[in-house]
Amino acid sequence: MNKRKQVIVVGAGFGGLRVVQKLCKQPVEITLIDKTNHHLFQPLLYQVATAALAPSDIAVPARAIFKRNKNVHVRMGEVVDVDTDKKKIHLENGQSLPFDYLILAPGTRHSYFGNDSWEKFAPGLKTLSDALDIRERILMSFEKAEREPDPEKRKHHETFVVVGGGPTGVEVAGTIAEISARTMRKDYEHVDLDLLEIILVEGQSRILNTYHESLSEKAARDLEQMGVKVMRNSMVTDVNEEGVRVKVTGDASGNGQSSDSKEVFIKTGTVIWGAGNAASPLLETLKVPLEKDGRLRVDADLSVPGHPDIFVIGDAARQVNPNGRETPAIAPGAIQHGDHAVRVIRADMAGKERPAFEYFDKGSMATIGRARAIAQIRNWRFSGFFAWLLWSLVHIFFLIGFRNRFRVMAEWFWFYLTFRGGSRLITRKRMKPEPALQDQE
Ligand SMILES: Cc1cc2nc3c(=O)[nH]c(=O)nc-3n(C[C@H](O)[C@H](O)[C@H](O)COP(=O)(O)OP(=O)(O)OC[C@H]3O[C@@H](n4cnc5c(N)ncnc54)[C@H](O)[C@@H]3O)c2cc1C
Repeated sequence: MNKRKQVIVVGAGFGGLRVVQKLCKQPVEITLIDKTNHHLFQPLLYQVATAALAPSDIAVPARAIFKRNKNVHVRMGEVVDVDTDKKKIHLENGQSLPFDYLILAPGTRHSYFGNDSWEKFAPGLKTLSDALDIRERILMSFEKAEREPDPEKRKHHETFVVVGGGPTGVEVAGTIAEISARTMRKDYEHVDLDLLEIILVEGQSRILNTYHESLSEKAARDLEQMGVKVMRNSMVTDVNEEGVRVKVTGDASGNGQSSDSKEVFIKTGTVIWGAGNAASPLLETLKVPLEKDGRLRVDADLSVPGHPDIFVIGDAARQVNPNGRETPAIAPGAIQHGDHAVRVIRADMAGKERPAFEYFDKGSMATIGRARAIAQIRNWRFSGFFAWLLWSLVHIFFLIGFRNRFRVMAEWFWFYLTFRGGSRLITRKRMKPEPALQDQE
């Protein structure tokens, strides 16, 4: 009798989930392993971090997704090692599982470019736990500002710094501006909107730099209108409990006014990091050369060089076509990788030649705030309400689970009309005595 192939999929993110959804109809046994028990819709994570949505709106237990698929076995656990010779993976509890095919889709974590001590003061946004931590930091800042009589100290609590002008940084900064101006103003009697400062710090000369220049300029203008100060050409050189030190080389305002280089210290109690990514350390255990950011450059069929039965897909993979085009680290890239890994396994099972991967660019969109977004689809570029509507529809469509789609749509509709709603609970942090603020030069 022909034994069914054992396929192990590591990661229930966009890439891993897609593999299991597509492969579960084939005569194979699939084990899906994730550190968490859920699939997370990362594109809406910033809405949990800014208290607009609840965690359960954007996450679904992996077991619930595959409850009807008898050949899919879900395990919660962290894969810590891959034994490529014995074709086994090892879990953190010492267990090991054999595989015929292994698909690694472990995504990335944020990177502090070698300054890991900054993480404590400037959390990044990748997991639900990160989002809840950031949400409580933001809400705690408002609570502290509310009870602080000294204006200088109140300003410290009312200053928010977001590092990184990519989609995550822009979304977070825009939403903090929006909820501060509308929702928080009503909730907190003493929060002083004149003191409120939201600063987006970007190392390069423009934000959202994968978009056409006209769209990134439009996004910066929108943010400024919403009350976010956009600092370009500004590199963070230190983060501590007092605030952020930034080296500005050139024109920070984007209006061509200065070419000087200077250091500034921004006093703040809330810093959010959205500046860099590094691939999962799990890839190191494959013992093949990795890129500088830890990603693995895969072969044309998405397999690991020298290991045709092991695939790396999604954000953890660097896939470059012969014409030099790369798969971007976005959800459609991970989903298309997932589809392709299944195509390759099916080709193997049918005794056919493996196809090469080709990324199909469906366009990209980023939201800035209520009724404000930018979109770039082929040579078509647009912004404003229509882009935001399209962004909202696409995100609702790709959310997993009818209940989640319905709840998110209802929340957004309610927020659009009333500027109220969301999930503004503080459950993990407590008020502590404040350290005295030190003067910084
Ligand atoms: C805040 C934010 C906003 C984003 N916004 C957008 C957007 O608007 N549009 C867009 O297209 N893309 C967006 N992205 C990018 C998109 O989410 C990623 O490209 C996509 O999630 C990558 O999918 P993946 O399967 O490679 O990894 P992920 O979705 O990150 O999934 C990786 C999974 O692997 C698990 N895992 C990791 N290591 C292990 C291990 N050792 N053992 C077991 N499990 C492990 C993790 O728990 C996780 O569930 C955003 C990302 C973030 C963080």
